[in-house]
Amino acid sequence: MSLSCPRCRVNLREITVGEVRVDLCPECDGAWYDGDELEHLLKAPYVILAASDLSVGLVRDVAPPDDQGPPLPCPRCQGPMERKAFLEGCPVVVDGCAVHGIWLDDGELSSLFEFSKRA
Ligand SMILES: [Zn+2]
Ligand SMILES: [Zn+2]
Repeated sequence: MSLSCPRCRVNLREITVGEVRVDLCPECDGAWYDGDELEHLLKAPYVILAASDLSVGLVRDVAPPDDQGPPLPCPRCQGPMERKAFLEGCPVVVDGCAVHGIWLDDGELSSLFEFSKRA
């Protein structure tokens, strides 16, 4: 069963980047990362990301989503995701399900990548 985008409700497209499987939304360029897939991905060289289908999500080409609304549903359990800093001291706030993984909106991946290289 394929997952659906918590924002657009369209089916996510599963892609592989290096060793990591990512579910990418063809509409909003957001992406879902199961478990610790995002942590693995952040350890990969930037060129691998830039050369992959994930490159569409590296640049924010739409206005940041309005996050004043209700929490996004987790693509796996449909439970409300929590908005929190990805890591302590990290300026990037992401939507995450405590059980299943993390949702990144368009452009958030490159911000996280910059942060993880500085840390
Ligand atoms: Zn979407
Ligand atoms: Zn969940």
